[in-house]
Amino acid sequence: MIGDARVTVILDSFVDFPFELLIGASPEESKELHDQSLRGPTAFVTVNCFLVESGSATILIDAGIGGTPDAASGRLPKELENLGLRPEDISHVCLTHLHADHAGGIVSMAGQSAFPHAEYVAHREEKACWFGSRPPANNTHLLQQYEFAQTIRPFMQQFKWVGAGPLMPGIEMVHLPGHTPGHSGYRITSNNQCLFIWGDVVHQPHLQIPRPDIGVAFDFDPDLAAESRRRALRESEANCEIIGGMHTDFPALGRIRGNDRDGFCFVPHVWSPAVSPLAQVLK
Ligand SMILES: [Zn+2]
Ligand SMILES: [Zn+2]
Repeated sequence: MIGDARVTVILDSFVDFPFELLIGASPEESKELHDQSLRGPTAFVTVNCFLVESGSATILIDAGIGGTPDAASGRLPKELENLGLRPEDISHVCLTHLHADHAGGIVSMAGQSAFPHAEYVAHREEKACWFGSRPPANNTHLLQQYEFAQTIRPFMQQFKWVGAGPLMPGIEMVHLPGHTPGHSGYRITSNNQCLFIWGDVVHQPHLQIPRPDIGVAFDFDPDLAAESRRRALRESEANCEIIGGMHTDFPALGRIRGNDRDGFCFVPHVWSPAVSPLAQVLK
């Protein structure tokens, strides 16, 4: 619970993430940092979605990879079913950006809109970037993302394009540009409690939280992405708020502290079987 809002973290997918996709550190340097984390030999990325039930709204923050589900990917529809929810019950899908691992799940297996009654919300700069008259740049990663975006073009009438600021009671969009032009997080606030869902501020949390200078090859503007990453980390630390990321390790929630170098540490949120007063926000 975040105040009166119930937030459920859903693990959608778990996929390989080659070190070659990182920029700002050599593959050897990334491998060494990875080895120090004791996470095993293979680098992977977690893909989470967040279900927010607040008042009469049933909101998904991002929709996962979509496609044909298997044991390790595309699990969102099955997990919603396990929670007793039908696709028609979702009132909003608030997208952090239009990359395929976040918006893929709004396309059903039959190629239809997966959440027929939902309003799809995204930052207006995503519209300009992915639905402009031509592909954004001659980077193969960006071209792939552009091609993906065209598969959601048929659902444009369901989209609401917005800017940073209050979106609905208790939910604010926070613009974190760079990874994509409209990349945004969502801050959920209720009864003085807060959760900051920060999208793709990091893809490899064990590398990029201690070393915010490390980015990914598919960052639209790597320098701006690093600036937004540092800002998100600094603000999360200053606010002592719980953060959740699409690629922070499931169950994805924790707080940020500075380290004694130029980076930060992730402090996992401790889970309790019930909502306990002991687990309340620190300030
Ligand atoms: Zn992304
Ligand atoms: Zn992503």
